Amino acid sequence: MKAATFMAPGKMVVKDYAKPELQKPTDAIIRIVRACVCGSDLWWYRGISQREAGSTTGHEAIGIVDAVGADVKDVQVGDFVIAPFTHGCGHCAACLAGFDGDCLNQEAGGNGGYQGEYLRFTNANWALVKIPGQPSDYSDEMLNNLLTLADVMATGYHAAASAEVKPDDTVVVLGDGAVGLCGVIAAKLLGAKRIIAMSRHADRQALAKEFGATDIIAERGDEAVAKVMALTGAGADAVLECVGTEQSVDTAVKVGRPGAVVGRVGVPQKPEMNTNNLFWKNIGLRGGIASVTSDDRKILLDAVLKGDIHPGKVFTQRFTLDQVQAAYEAMDHRQAIKSLLVISD
Ligand SMILES: [Zn+2]
Ligand SMILES: [Zn+2]
Repeated sequence: MKAATFMAPGKMVVKDYAKPELQKPTDAIIRIVRACVCGSDLWWYRGISQREAGSTTGHEAIGIVDAVGADVKDVQVGDFVIAPFTHGCGHCAACLAGFDGDCLNQEAGGNGGYQGEYLRFTNANWALVKIPGQPSDYSDEMLNNLLTLADVMATGYHAAASAEVKPDDTVVVLGDGAVGLCGVIAAKLLGAKRIIAMSRHADRQALAKEFGATDIIAERGDEAVAKVMALTGAGADAVLECVGTEQSVDTAVKVGRPGAVVGRVGVPQKPEMNTNNLFWKNIGLRGGIASVTSDDRKILLDAVLKGDIHPGKVFTQRFTLDQVQAAYEAMDHRQAIKSLLVISD
């Protein structure tokens, strides 16, 4: 079978591998239908973070269950499933509290390999999310919507849920990548009245508006803060931080009104941050790894199937597995908001 493989910064190839086999009773083998490239993949693709040369890549997919271990009871061979990047066991303290992204029983090496024809998925019993029917029952657009539930839509939702977005809130979303755009969708889903999206790219501004943004701010840093204050008076009720840079977190804290909560899903790019400025405004800061399985089951799968949300629109370019290098380049050069990989039917 073929799988995308990282060779060196800026260089992806497709290599042949033996089809993966069940190694533990909690494993499943998934035949991948669609996968995609994540904004977080660009960190190692650009050489900013380290990744082992020769490792298989990808952590978001939908597919068909091809084999299950003896302990996997929740899904069966032939089921159509979302394969989240999280691998929650469903029964540890973290999973029971709704934080399956922090599952205490996750196995090393669970991620990687989703950008390939077959995947060995660890902790498959609870983590996989069953989709009704088969891929052929869905439109192309709906398959893309479903694919976002493996990470990006669930991560955007996690930002909004962590920021405690409530009906009629004013919300600021920092980050106009696919996660930030899904954060706009999530803020609207949770009832926000005013959604201020920070974006300086015309295509992303347009999609943010389509997803529910009421205002766009193209400035950054202190100019952006001044604009938010001009629009809101005292700052936003909730802030979604979907970038991860020091400047973005700093801006997020500054645009919140006193007592606001910042929901943070941008992977931190600095080991430390100064939290003292939170104190002076009673700003709450929470967020982290998304609760993909919990939130898909609780709200997101239904919202997609009912047609309430259309997060698949973040896929603005499509590729085959053999074109994986071009898929990464399109995102690296910001030509694609998110690159789709169509692997099988
Ligand atoms: Zn991802
Ligand atoms: Zn767990």
